[in-house]
Amino acid sequence: MEECRRKLAEFTDTFEVRPLDDDHLLPVADWPMSRVQRGEVLRDWEVRIRRRDQGWEKILAYSGWLIHSAHGEELAFVSTSDITERKRAEADLQEREEQLRLFVEYAPAALAMFDREMRYLSVSRRWRADHGLGDRELRGVSHYEVFRELPERWQAAHRRGLAGEVLREDDDCFERVDGTVQSVAWQVRPWHDPRGEIGGIVIFTEDITERKRVQETLRISEERLRLAVRVAAMGVWELQLPERVVTWSLEIFDIFGVPADSPQPSFEDAARFTHPDDRSRVEEQIVLLLAGKPIQVTYRIIRPDGELRWIEISAQAEFDASGQPVRSIGVIRDVTESRQLEAQFRQAQKMEAVGRLSGGVAHDFNNILMIITGYGDLLKEQLGSDERLRPMIEAILSAANRAASLTHQLLAFSRKQILAPEVLDLNSILADLGKMLPRLIGEDIDLEIIPGNGLGRVMADASQIQQVVMNLVVNARDAMPEGGRLTIETANAEWDDKHGREYGIEAKPGSFVLLSVADNGIGMDRETRAHLFEPFFTTKDVNKGTGLGLSIVYGVVKQSGGFIWVDSEPGQGTTFKIYLPRIEEKETIISATRVSPKSYRGSETILLVEDEPGVREAISHFLRAQGYTVLEANNPSTALEIAQEQSKRIHLLLTDMIMPEMNGRDLAKRLTATRPEMGVLYISGYIDRGIAGGTNIDAEMNFLQKPFGFDVLGRKLRDIPDR
Ligand code: ADP
Ligand code: MG
Repeated sequence: MEECRRKLAEFTDTFEVRPLDDDHLLPVADWPMSRVQRGEVLRDWEVRIRRRDQGWEKILAYSGWLIHSAHGEELAFVSTSDITERKRAEADLQEREEQLRLFVEYAPAALAMFDREMRYLSVSRRWRADHGLGDRELRGVSHYEVFRELPERWQAAHRRGLAGEVLREDDDCFERVDGTVQSVAWQVRPWHDPRGEIGGIVIFTEDITERKRVQETLRISEERLRLAVRVAAMGVWELQLPERVVTWSLEIFDIFGVPADSPQPSFEDAARFTHPDDRSRVEEQIVLLLAGKPIQVTYRIIRPDGELRWIEISAQAEFDASGQPVRSIGVIRDVTESRQLEAQFRQAQKMEAVGRLSGGVAHDFNNILMIITGYGDLLKEQLGSDERLRPMIEAILSAANRAASLTHQLLAFSRKQILAPEVLDLNSILADLGKMLPRLIGEDIDLEIIPGNGLGRVMADASQIQQVVMNLVVNARDAMPEGGRLTIETANAEWDDKHGREYGIEAKPGSFVLLSVADNGIGMDRETRAHLFEPFFTTKDVNKGTGLGLSIVYGVVKQSGGFIWVDSEPGQGTTFKIYLPRIEEKETIISATRVSPKSYRGSETILLVEDEPGVREAISHFLRAQGYTVLEANNPSTALEIAQEQSKRIHLLLTDMIMPEMNGRDLAKRLTATRPEMGVLYISGYIDRGIAGGTNIDAEMNFLQKPFGFDVLGRKLRDIPDR
């Protein structure tokens, strides 16, 4: 016993015993051995035992009870096992589980872990938030109970996940518990238990609603930018420094006329497009750019096909922290067209000014010329047969005539000439011209005239329109020195805003008659097209071209309320399209005739029948002054008498339409019955079918509507006796 006590004392000095979850020392009386000796039965009582001198601590599990020996002795049977390691492992596991739980819970992703029956094991806060689940206790609750209408495709994904597959979808949508819809990306993957068997699945979801919105906004804004760049016909380029690597956008290839699949140009390549005259100017700007200044420069480039374009560059450079330029970004715009529009505008203003000036001069000049020729004529008459002075006065008169024809041209292009607008059928003008054009253009050129069907009428001066056609035809001839094809065509045409935009022409929409003159000659380059209508612009030799042809065309067409469109490329021929406003009149009142001779003089005999004495005297005075022989009658019966007495030829009957006894038409019938060679020209203040003889005025009838100018009459007369 003594021995026992000593040992115990030794024991208590060496060991400290504590319960597992408590830190206080157990008194010896509570030690496992003492408790067994007192008759307690212990089963796996776990205590912590520390050995003071060696410093270790162990967790021991005690089991023990009293047994009685065969000799009746009481023996304490105690077994201990060291469970230190197991306990530590358990604690570690718990801690790790806790860590994992926290890890899952606080994960910035939405994830949830399910068992094989799709019951929740754990979820992240994000999962709760994303799916609108609040703080609801989820552990052990079935996923399908939480989301009662989970789409079949997801249920299928869960099944496949549980069968071991890993699935993912980057763009899906999901209806939350509260009914709102979100865009999601998701993944399903199985997890394995310690035995290696599938314990369930983990689902990971990502709310991509915002990302998609941002992407969509970005896409729209990029699209918008692209569109804006395209609409502005802009190209974007980047210059990487110091390597000097250039990147062009597709539009620039287009602007520079380089195939879109060509490699990106080097800086030097890009610079080579610059027009030699503009190079130094561009280089100066680049120096400024690299010094940090935003630049804008407009200059010319020469495209590989030789075409010259004006471009405008705006650019800015970016610098690194040390102030070195790292790159420059800029935009390029093709401004050729707008420069042309500007030029056209300036051109129009210039033509206007020159036109006003020359028109004013010509007008005053004409008055002076009238005095010169008037008195000249008088003098000539009074000189009689003075052979000495006659050639002088004739020289004066012929010079005055030349001057008059010059002012006539000036007036044509200043659009200030006195027009005699008539209702015209362009087809009959062409038919008449057609007879003489072949002589004008020579044998090497095939002429085709295609009159349009049911062609509308225009209001214009016949001789001016003839002038227009002649000028265009002469130009076409000059453009085809080796021969070619000349096509003159007429057609009705409607002009609407769409055409205007397409052709870049500002014209009021409406109905027009189109006169088109097309050749397959040398064509024109951009430069020529730009100056075409300018007075005195010519590309021909000094004694060949005057540069007035097209300016006259321009003046006449403008004054007739029409407009011109030109289509021409070098080597591709030229088409002039002239649009004249279409009018409603059905009848040809005056059929257009041949090019008017400069003078209206004639020597033929004319029978003039007119019941208005004032009108008759005025006309007869004019006719006599022009050299005609005039037989006057104040009514049809006198006319018939005169015709009977007259033995010589009467070339023309010039008769009023409406007279008391007999209308002009019936008079003409009676007279031409005996004098078939006689021409007839009707004049009348009326153009009414009934009065014009009960039938339509047909195109063959020569007809002048009062009031008319004597120049018109004179021109008309020169035409008829020739028939
Ligand atoms: P001109 O014929 O006296 O030179 P125009 O005013 O008639 O003057 O024409 C001006 C210029 O327009 C011509 O010199 C020529 O360069 C060009 N041109 C006109 N018509 C044609 C055409 N059909 N084909 C090619 N070039 C033309
Ligand atoms: Mg010409």
